Amino acid sequence: KTKNHSYDIQIGSGLHKQLVQSLRELGITQQQKLMLISDSHVGPLYAGRIQDQLCTAGYEVGTCFVPAGEASKSILQYERVVGACLKFGLDRKSVILALGGGVVGDLAGFVAASFMRGIPFIQLPTTLLAHDSAVGGKVGINHAMGKNLIGAFHQPLRVIFDVDTLSTLPLRQLRSGFAELIKEALIWDVSFVGWLENHQNALLGRDPSLLCEAIYRGCRIKATIVEQDEKENGIRAILNYGHTIGHAIEACAGYKHYTHGECVAIGMVSAVYLGQWVLKTPPAVIDKTIRLIESFGLPTQFSLPCSDDELINLIKHDKKSTSGRLSFILPKQLGHVEMVEHVQEALIVQALQVIRGG
Ligand code: NAD
Ligand code: ZN
Repeated sequence: KTKNHSYDIQIGSGLHKQLVQSLRELGITQQQKLMLISDSHVGPLYAGRIQDQLCTAGYEVGTCFVPAGEASKSILQYERVVGACLKFGLDRKSVILALGGGVVGDLAGFVAASFMRGIPFIQLPTTLLAHDSAVGGKVGINHAMGKNLIGAFHQPLRVIFDVDTLSTLPLRQLRSGFAELIKEALIWDVSFVGWLENHQNALLGRDPSLLCEAIYRGCRIKATIVEQDEKENGIRAILNYGHTIGHAIEACAGYKHYTHGECVAIGMVSAVYLGQWVLKTPPAVIDKTIRLIESFGLPTQFSLPCSDDELINLIKHDKKSTSGRLSFILPKQLGHVEMVEHVQEALIVQALQVIRGG
């Protein structure tokens, strides 16, 4: 529930097969054109079946696939997708379906937010990580100067997470998704931290009911926070835990070396050290955080030819920092974080040293 809009998040098996029913429930008729946006990995796996089903039910469905990967959250791909929408004859009543991970969700969502000043869209997440990106209405693309610098708030009509799609997700991408779940646990819910520790093996083994529960708990935390502060004037900022340094690492080498989740994991490690120096966070919190991250096979250090100056510059451009101030979300206890407005540059350099691998 946000101020102007409420929507359902569906999580389960076989949900793609029930899409026609979902469209009916949402009042979307065959007079409304649909555009299915996906990427070059997910499109060939899942778009055909969805398109067939919708066409059989009398819907007109166009498709547009972008190259898989973070580089597609770009002005170039944005323009291409908008072009495909125009060519297919989408109008202000049309609906966009975003089928893929966070990249497709953010890009297609931004197309929906801006096409003819905004048309509705549905999120069909296919990565574990996208339980986070599909909820909350932040959509956008990157600029050479940093991540997500061009974007909007545009809530979807519905989020439909068919967990069957996770069976084809590469293990590295599955692990990456746990970074955002670990983040949600660490900022909000200490019992979820314990739950993740206890079920780590079965989760990485893709136990379907545990994955559903993890996604449910993650979405529940995200929704609870976004309901309180949709436009990030306050509490929503805690969802950026691990992201300030994480985004800088992601952007500094052109988004090629590490996944978003891996960068968030490394970013959280730097944040626990900053927490110890700035907020006197107990050392046990550092140990537990690092152990949890490692137990899901995520990195705690990075190794890239990026100087401290380059990284600090990217951190200053991160839109979370206001007028060049270096603000951070830092842990106080497990399950509890705080916003710290001015972190000294020297401490950030020290934190970067801790997370630099050989
Ligand atoms: P992604 O969308 O690039 O997907 C990762 C890889 O997995 C891609 O190669 C993709 O083609 C492939 N893939 C996706 N689903 C698959 C499936 N079911 N089977 C096989 N392959 C599949 O990356 P991501 O990790 O899902 O998302 C990362 C993005 O999400 C980042 O750009 C990040 O900034 C964004 N994000 C946004 C928010 C938000 O609130 N809007 C929140 C968190 C993250
Ligand atoms: Zn993230």
